[in-house]
Amino acid sequence: MLTTRKFLIGFYLISLIIVSSWVWRSGYAKLVSQSNQQLDIFATHLQSQLQRFDAIPKLLFDQKQVVASLQDPDNSQLQQKTNRYLKHVNNTIGASDTYLIDINGTTIAANNWRDKQTFIGKNFAFRPYFQQAVSGQQGRYFALGTTSGQRGYYFSSPVINAGNIIGVVVVKMDLSKIEKEWTGKQAHFMVTDDDNVIFISNTQSWLLHSLTPLSAEKLQRIDRSRRYGNKTIAALNFTGQLEDNPALLQLTTSKPFATNYLSMSKHMPTAGWTVRVFTPLTTIFIDIAIGLVLLSLVFWLLNLRLKLSMHKHQRAKDKEQLRIKTKYKLKQEVKRRTADLNNEIIERQKMEQTLRDTQKELIQTAKLAVLGQLSASISHELNNPLAAIRSYADNALVFLQREQYQSTDDNLQRIIHLTERMAKISSQLKFFARKSSGELHPVPLLNVIHMAIELVKPQLKSNQVAITLDDANIEVLVNVDQVQLEQVLVNLLSNAMQAVEESSNKHIHVSLCRVQQQVIVQVDDSGPGISKDNLSQLFDPFFTTKETGLGLGLSISHKIMRNMQGNIIAENRPNAGARFSLSLPLTMVPTATTSATTIPATAIPVTTTQATIYPQAPV
Ligand code: ADP
Repeated sequence: MLTTRKFLIGFYLISLIIVSSWVWRSGYAKLVSQSNQQLDIFATHLQSQLQRFDAIPKLLFDQKQVVASLQDPDNSQLQQKTNRYLKHVNNTIGASDTYLIDINGTTIAANNWRDKQTFIGKNFAFRPYFQQAVSGQQGRYFALGTTSGQRGYYFSSPVINAGNIIGVVVVKMDLSKIEKEWTGKQAHFMVTDDDNVIFISNTQSWLLHSLTPLSAEKLQRIDRSRRYGNKTIAALNFTGQLEDNPALLQLTTSKPFATNYLSMSKHMPTAGWTVRVFTPLTTIFIDIAIGLVLLSLVFWLLNLRLKLSMHKHQRAKDKEQLRIKTKYKLKQEVKRRTADLNNEIIERQKMEQTLRDTQKELIQTAKLAVLGQLSASISHELNNPLAAIRSYADNALVFLQREQYQSTDDNLQRIIHLTERMAKISSQLKFFARKSSGELHPVPLLNVIHMAIELVKPQLKSNQVAITLDDANIEVLVNVDQVQLEQVLVNLLSNAMQAVEESSNKHIHVSLCRVQQQVIVQVDDSGPGISKDNLSQLFDPFFTTKETGLGLGLSISHKIMRNMQGNIIAENRPNAGARFSLSLPLTMVPTATTSATTIPATAIPVTTTQATIYPQAPV
């Protein structure tokens, strides 16, 4: 953009030079041609004016009246007659003066004989026109009249009688009349002598001034010639080559600016003068000024256009910069936020891990709590066989001393059976109590249900609660963490057992059914059911209606079921106790399909023919 601007300025300056020079050259050529034309007209006009008088003196040179007058200068009557004759001639030709000079240069007759300033008696022997005439030539001279002080052009001719020059006839032409026709013109018209003194001019103030300062010698010569009488010739102070044609001149005056002129000149040797036309260059300068103003206007508009586009460009640039800046800021912000987010994610992951760990801990704690509840009856379950083993061992000892080997063997067999049973309970407890990994594996669902029932069985026994299982021949694999599913079932069975505590008919029924791709385990009890208010809060952590309850069992069960893509819901059976249903996605459809038909949950009775009834009697 800056280069464009520089280029524009450069182009403007070059254009200024070209336009000024073109306007100058064309204006100058036009002015030269115009001035030349005017000079021709002026010169022709002067020439024709002079020609009007050129022949007059020649016509008078042998007039009898004139000759007679010169031959008899003392004859006053004759002189009077000549005077009148000359006046008549003067009036006829329209000259300024016509007069007759004797051979000595003294005027003897004149048209103005009656005037105060008559030429009669005046001696003009010093005038070149007289000297030329007496030497036999036709005289021509321009000068200020010594008597009248009027500028005139003098035409002279010798008066010849019998081959001798006896006098001179002079016709003087008034030059001021010529000037009148050229006044009011823009150009300065002038006639100068050989010393460049202006003799005729349409500019009155320039009259009888030299174009350039004259040397003292020249001034003295002019003074001596008395051409301009006593008039002191001042200089106009033109500078430039006056001799050139055309020439460029400068007039320095008291004004602050010098005036420039185009000078055209023409030497007229017959008249003895040079005609000149000085045309001011103002018109050219005005044309140049107009041209420059127009050019400047064009460039100003161009500059304006350029500025506008520069402004637009700058705005677009600013916008782009702002966009880049904003984009950069945004990027930085996104970076910062991403970093924050990453930190937050890491933090959250840590928290989630902690939560998971805590949940695991909680699950484990809750499981141990249930185990704690079951522990009394389990220890009872272990103590009974232990006591039986003791008595069987004592009996075996007695039978051995009596050498009753069959009885000893029977007792020992019983001891073995009981220890196996105890080992089974112990291993079940160990399995249940271990910390689960949380990993899911396909497990036969019925196995898990049996294990859970086995765990609560001692307490069921001590509370005299009957439990039945209706497996509906559904043998399926479920993708679960076995320990955790067992924990859920133990929770439900334990809650059911507590719910039926006050009931006259203490009964728990566990059943299975398949609904589409899910298997559902229902734990029904014959307890009082769940009140409407409690139903919505059952799965909330720490919700309990029991004095010693933790309120964690169901909420943890819910969590475990969700982790295994399953679910748990609670409802009341019509006119009966509560029902807790666990649903799990099926992993493997059993091969024996006799009982695999999907049965709606509601269609399963609490006690059916397939139900397994766990013995209530103590061992
Ligand atoms: P806790 O057993 O420690 O109270 P749970 O989360 O296991 O905690 O049970 C929450 C509550 O749900 C129990 O206090 C009880 O009011 C109710 N509840 C659970 N199971 C049954 C049920 N089978 N019948 C009636 N109410 C039940």
